[in-house]
Amino acid sequence: MPELPEVEVVRRGLERHVTGRTIASVDVLHPRAIRRHVPGAIDFASRLVGHSLDAARRRGKYLWVELSSGEAVLAHLGMSGQMLVQSADAPDEKHLRVRVRFADDGPELRFVDQRTFGGLSVEDTVEVDGETLPEPVAHIARDPMDPAFDLDAAVRALRAKRTEVKRALLDQTVVSGIGNIYADEALWRARVHWARPTERLSAAKARELIGAATDVMAEALVAGGTSFDALYVNVNGQSGYFDRSLAAYGQEGLPCPRCGSPIRREPFMNRSSFSCPRCQRRS
Ligand SMILES: [Zn+2]
Repeated sequence: MPELPEVEVVRRGLERHVTGRTIASVDVLHPRAIRRHVPGAIDFASRLVGHSLDAARRRGKYLWVELSSGEAVLAHLGMSGQMLVQSADAPDEKHLRVRVRFADDGPELRFVDQRTFGGLSVEDTVEVDGETLPEPVAHIARDPMDPAFDLDAAVRALRAKRTEVKRALLDQTVVSGIGNIYADEALWRARVHWARPTERLSAAKARELIGAATDVMAEALVAGGTSFDALYVNVNGQSGYFDRSLAAYGQEGLPCPRCGSPIRREPFMNRSSFSCPRCQRRS
């Protein structure tokens, strides 16, 4: 799954290439790509055509574009969803699902998704804490990149969850934007085992942990931030581009960059947790 830095790269690409442009036509080429838009393809297209895309927004891993109508197009990237900005005469991609053409006859916006877990939907917006959010995002906490992110409140919310610390970190109503990869990296940096109960996490350690998550995502964004200059806006959560500097995630058996012990992998919620057995003690 794409995590916050990957989604931010897509957001910047959309901001650069499609905002301010008026939609001329929409082709839905596969019904699964708009299955979250319950009224169907004709309704989906009618809510877009004639309106302009005003701003590309993100909260955590959620991405949307505001429409001049006051609604918002929510993009679910799923496992393999990509937003491409392509010239109109470029051949269709094999897994092209939705095509948006603009009144300026400039490059098209294409939603391409091989595995069709992702999709697009038009959503009503609501006002929450001074921000306009699509309804499905209303309950999602601010992410650490948000200028209004409240670190003290996030520390309190994290410690109030009576669970394992990694589950609390992944809870998008506590802090948004942290997925499995960056959770493992943050836990490694803060030297906390993923299964430590939150009640045994001091406020100082919780603050260090959220700070580490923020740093690791900011660094990934810098590493990936060069790829959105091109007209071809592309993201893939599996991309090795963001994985180069990982210390723990996916590093089973490789030496811990801090102490040299082999990184261990443990099962976690149908996935895995990677940690250093020496730096991140269970107790
Ligand atoms: Zn170590």
